[in-house]
Amino acid sequence: MASSRHFRVITTFIRPTTSSLRVQRSLVAHNARRFLSTTPALRDSRNFAPQTTIFRDVEPLRDFRRAALLNNRTIGLVPTMGALHEGHLSLVRQAAAENTDVFVTIYVNPTQFGLHEDLASYPKTWETDLRMLHTLDRELASVEGAGRVTAVFAPTTKTMYPTLPPDSSIPGVGSFIEMRPLGQLLEGASRPVFFRGVATVCMKLFNICQPERVYFGQKDIQQTVVIRRLVKDFHLPIDVKIVPTSREPDGLALSSRNVYLGTRRRTVGIVLNQALRKAEAQYKARNRTRGDILWPASDHADQTKMAQDALEPHERARFEVDYLSLADPETMEELDEVDPARGAILSGAVKMLPVEEGGPSEDLGVGGGQIPVMAIT
Ligand code: AMP
Repeated sequence: MASSRHFRVITTFIRPTTSSLRVQRSLVAHNARRFLSTTPALRDSRNFAPQTTIFRDVEPLRDFRRAALLNNRTIGLVPTMGALHEGHLSLVRQAAAENTDVFVTIYVNPTQFGLHEDLASYPKTWETDLRMLHTLDRELASVEGAGRVTAVFAPTTKTMYPTLPPDSSIPGVGSFIEMRPLGQLLEGASRPVFFRGVATVCMKLFNICQPERVYFGQKDIQQTVVIRRLVKDFHLPIDVKIVPTSREPDGLALSSRNVYLGTRRRTVGIVLNQALRKAEAQYKARNRTRGDILWPASDHADQTKMAQDALEPHERARFEVDYLSLADPETMEELDEVDPARGAILSGAVKMLPVEEGGPSEDLGVGGGQIPVMAIT
């Protein structure tokens, strides 16, 4: 069970032979072509007029959506918890390539945080978020055929949970959506209320915004499986789009929570990405069994952990591997062997433990290397 004093880094890949990745790749190529092909016909951005309206309440947004529908406009929804970075923007870009209007929601959803997780300290950067969206909208305004960021929905919790105060306890009081056992595996095993909160808030956002398409990051791979299941099982008329992970040059996935890492934990936190790449290489070398695929990943993580543990407290960044998983792409159940026709999801989670002794001028990140943080969204 992960405690609140851990930083968790998750990196996920859909292995190369999965049909979903093939779809993903061709889709990205299509988008790239679409943007590239529009480059010579850039619109004159001197005539740029901001088109983004900020909504706090449901009714005005519904009116706006209804008017869009009557004008044959299409809505691509990008749900976020704010503290935006280039990863979020890549979702908005793809949504703008495929829709006339992009709705971005910014809401830190309390019901997906366990009682001892980092809800209170989760980064909130509203002004910067809006500036980033405004800048991106300006960029989109200059691209022929691209959609615009026409709505930002930033509701209060009273708006999102009108009946009861939101509850993060187990079993929880309120109206929730749960997927069992999908939502209890992997991430859900150490964060029992997480996917219940995610599925519930997404259902609310889908009902409020009524998008044609929704955009989610592949980084949070189990979340994408949960959302696909939500859409399938509740017959939602929505197309779920999965966008590849934006990464730092060394491979670390961009994340709003990276601000907590500091230099030392940031350097070691790349271990998960390295481990999963080793597992991916095994599959590319035609290995198909669980042991053959996962052992180099476990070995790399073990070696790195031993090396860190052997260092002095003022030098080391300790971590624990929560899981390394090779799972079915629809159920997230662990696989003993991969059927190449069906593919699999390779994923993992590492908990970066608090820094024990910081140096006098060391960058320990927001919270001095100690901030209680749980997981990702
Ligand atoms: P969050 O604000 O963390 O809830 O993330 C909102 C959406 O952005 C989710 O669908 C995430 O999977 C996606 N996202 C977060 N980080 C990245 C990234 N580095 N690359 C692509 N998508 C991301």
